[in-house]
Amino acid sequence: MTYQHLFGPVPSRRLGRSLGVDLVPLKTCSYNCIYCECGRTTHLTTERKEYVPTAGVISELDDCLAKHPSLDYVTFSGSGEPTLHSGIGKISDFLAERYPEYRVALLTNGSLFSLQEVREEVSGIDVIIPSLDTGEERTFRRIDRPHPSLSIEKIISGLEALREEFKGEIWLEIFVVPGLNDTETEIEALRKAVLRIRPDRVDLNTLDRPGVVTWIRAASEEDLERFAAGLDYPAVEMIRKPPPTEGGERFSEDALDSIMQTIRRRPCTMEDLCEMSGMRPTEINKYLRQLTMEGKVMEERGKRGVFFFAGSVK
Ligand code: SF4
Repeated sequence: MTYQHLFGPVPSRRLGRSLGVDLVPLKTCSYNCIYCECGRTTHLTTERKEYVPTAGVISELDDCLAKHPSLDYVTFSGSGEPTLHSGIGKISDFLAERYPEYRVALLTNGSLFSLQEVREEVSGIDVIIPSLDTGEERTFRRIDRPHPSLSIEKIISGLEALREEFKGEIWLEIFVVPGLNDTETEIEALRKAVLRIRPDRVDLNTLDRPGVVTWIRAASEEDLERFAAGLDYPAVEMIRKPPPTEGGERFSEDALDSIMQTIRRRPCTMEDLCEMSGMRPTEINKYLRQLTMEGKVMEERGKRGVFFFAGSVK
């Protein structure tokens, strides 16, 4: 079976070996973040609906997980905002009932937790990782460029309500963009927001792959240390690159298709692709050359080296 909605497993910096579940078409999101590694949002929306067939996602998960793959997490993430999918509750219930041995995570921008139905639908998930980049409305519009119906107060109140009701862990992710959300005023606004939300931990992230705009830069270790000190919260962590994975078990039957599926979702270096696939660089190179010649893959130099991305993304 070739999967349309699953990708990886990918080595995640926080989640170990993670099988991705992509619930929306590229790039359907309620935000259009300047740092998004999936490219510019082409469908900016807050409308919840069945963007891809719920039954199709469940059938792929069943096919894949019945083989008992070695995974740390099954993770809702991918080409946009997963909570926009109206079947996320049904899919997560399926995982909890049929495959309780797998932990489930959700990477989300946190924009829809003001809706009680969304909070109820995600209640069976083990770890929710919502992003929150600022406590200030003006900066929210500059970094996350949200749908006009959203405000930063609505987002923070929604996350507060989630904390009240949700029994699993919440790891709040702050993406540090030097010059935009790392001033003293910004850090203080975030400190207050974090105290309201009371996450189990706060993860500080920064640019690792090329974003949508070219003028942003990654925060240095010193920037992140200063930011963490300003937050003054008991559990603040800095996200670092994951260790290489062993083996290289792939779920796509076709290597070319597997590479394409991976870079369609996020730009990758050769090293990333080797780690994710278990293939040798010479082998990956062979496929990349072919995809480049067909115009399906493009290259761009970033801080960690040359990144390959799907030609249609940028
Ligand atoms: S980073 Fe996440 S929230 Fe922001 S535009 Fe990309 S997919 Fe949407």
